[in-house]
Amino acid sequence: MKRSLSPGVETAFWSLLTLAGYALLASLSLHATRGADNIAAIWPPSGYFLALLLLMPARARAASFIAMAVASIAANMLSGTSALVAAAFTVANVAEAGAALWLIRRRVPGDLSFMEPRAVANFCIAVLAAGALSASIAAALLGMLDAASLAGRGLDFFLSWLTTVTLGLLIVAPPIVMLARLIDSRALGNVPRATIAEAVALLIFAAALTVACFSQAHFPATFLPTVAVIAASYRLGPFGAAAGMLIVAIIASWMTGQGFGPVAAIEGSQKGKILFLQFYFITLLFTALPLAALLVVQRRLAKRLEQSNRWLLQAEAAALVGHWRVDLVRWTIQWSDQAYRVHGLEPGEMVGVDYSVEQYLSEDRAAVRAILRQAVQTGEPFEYQGRIVRADGAIRHVKSHGSIERGRGGRAVGIFGTVQDVTETVENARILEAARSAAERVANTDMLTGLPNRRHTLAFLDAALVGARDQGVPLAVAIFDIDHFKRINDDHGHAAGDEVIRRVARRARASLRDEDLVGRFGGEEFVCILQRSSAQAAEIVAERLRSAIEAEGRADEELPPATVSVGLAVYDGEGDIEALLHRADQALYLAKREGRNRLRMAA
Ligand code: GH3
Ligand code: MG
Ligand code: MG
Repeated sequence: MKRSLSPGVETAFWSLLTLAGYALLASLSLHATRGADNIAAIWPPSGYFLALLLLMPARARAASFIAMAVASIAANMLSGTSALVAAAFTVANVAEAGAALWLIRRRVPGDLSFMEPRAVANFCIAVLAAGALSASIAAALLGMLDAASLAGRGLDFFLSWLTTVTLGLLIVAPPIVMLARLIDSRALGNVPRATIAEAVALLIFAAALTVACFSQAHFPATFLPTVAVIAASYRLGPFGAAAGMLIVAIIASWMTGQGFGPVAAIEGSQKGKILFLQFYFITLLFTALPLAALLVVQRRLAKRLEQSNRWLLQAEAAALVGHWRVDLVRWTIQWSDQAYRVHGLEPGEMVGVDYSVEQYLSEDRAAVRAILRQAVQTGEPFEYQGRIVRADGAIRHVKSHGSIERGRGGRAVGIFGTVQDVTETVENARILEAARSAAERVANTDMLTGLPNRRHTLAFLDAALVGARDQGVPLAVAIFDIDHFKRINDDHGHAAGDEVIRRVARRARASLRDEDLVGRFGGEEFVCILQRSSAQAAEIVAERLRSAIEAEGRADEELPPATVSVGLAVYDGEGDIEALLHRADQALYLAKREGRNRLRMAA
């Protein structure tokens, strides 16, 4: 509405609102509170004008100040004040409004919001300073104009003006500003009907309690409106506190001014009654406003906490990591939703500390217990992995990381940990390991015979030679080669030759001890590595091997017979395996040359 007005009309609108409202409130206050000393408990026009100044556009302010001055002088004079004194009081009120506005704009960035405890505190400070300025000006000007009426009670006048004006600013400005902002932001349309009904009911309740309390003087029940204001603050926040406070202040001061209620019935001076009422308002205000502001902060924090918690749970679900916490004092455990899912349970089911440990397979349980016990003792972070039997019977690998929480005095009071289902990782690692060892087996095995191949045989011999040298134990190497194998191939075909190679390999393997190795070195040539064998023992083994191959060849009815020649060498402190193999090879050559199917020992 206001935004669509032209600047001139807008200025006129605010000036008129100022003039009419200020004149009305000032007259009402002066009329209602006209007691023996003409002192009001609160001065609502000040709060009304400050609220308008905070709401109106800057360009409308100058005209509104003039309108306010006119209204103030008129209202004061109508109530019987002399023109000069009315003008003096008006100067004080104009200065106070200007100072309050300037201080608020300086101390509070942006629009003043009563939802921020800091802004509320700054508003209070600004209003108090403006009240002090106003009281000083009023007292000084009155002292100049009518020194006789102020004689001996200058301080009293100053204090009473200060409290009256400050209360007017504190009590009246906030609810007007909040309500206007609420209407202007069109947020009111989004407020649920039930909330509006509750707000109206609470404010009516506050009014009714105040009327009930201040319409009689039998019971000093001034504490009753407090209940309504606190209830309004709790349910409606700062707006409830401010609006409830305003209603109580208007009714209580008007009724007291008219001579009703427990405050009016107090025996003593009018000044004492007004002071009591002001003290009552201040107590109520400083109980309700901070409570309301703190509630706003607390609700905001609770909302933020709830949101971060939601994010955490979503992140856990996405990362498949849950968290848990053991309360060591109460011996209880808490699981996050994802922790429940890891354990195959519905989030929220009741679980105990013992149950969560007993989910581990018995083989892993003791280790988990020991790690946790040690972590509690040392306070160090921990990590463990084990298998659990889920509620659905599935066995899963889970990994936990965690740390110990210490209470006062350094005592361990809790364990906080994460839990992750790593079954897939473990499974993948197992498959990878199986594939790796299969590949290694293939890389080390001769395909035709299944014996270790040349590569593996050489590596084994290398290690055996190092072992023999370091431990000072004997080591023998026998190289054997099938005799006239070319002829077997030529006469019976290559496939039969292959079968003969396999038969020789099988027989050689069978005639050796487990700790000895026989590998196919290439073609129809083999190498035996006889560990911890003296020359004598090696000779016996090699001879047994040769004769077994010969015997089997002779007994075989399907394949041609075959014999082998063997060259044997015993480790003699050589630097490497080449030298040892070379001597065995020379012995083999000798065996071939001397007629084959025999064993020769290297020199
Ligand atoms: P010698 O008694 O002097 O050892 O005579 P030999 O005929 O065994 O000698 P040589 O080493 O010249 O011949 C070996 C033959 O073995 C030559 C090659 O064709 C054959 N051979 C090598 N590897 C294989 C194999 O894997 N299968 C078959 N069937 N024959 C092979
Ligand atoms: Mg041969
Ligand atoms: Mg050969």
